[in-house]
Amino acid sequence: MDWIDSGKMKIRNPETGEREVHEVPDLETLRNWTLFDGGAETPDGCWVEPDGTCEHGWKAWPRILGLV
Ligand SMILES: [Zn+2]
Repeated sequence: MDWIDSGKMKIRNPETGEREVHEVPDLETLRNWTLFDGGAETPDGCWVEPDGTCEHGWKAWPRILGLV
């Protein structure tokens, strides 16, 4: 993955090899997901475990960012 600028990142889907640019959620959002909601979003908007991967092959944000 590559940072595009302060708020965006180019992410590779490990299953399909496809690359997409996504806006990175801020730390407060990430913290609320994992602390209060027990899960996290993936770049394509699916909801999974904080260290999970969605059915489309995208990793959850905390995992992409190395927080879990
Ligand atoms: Zn998905």
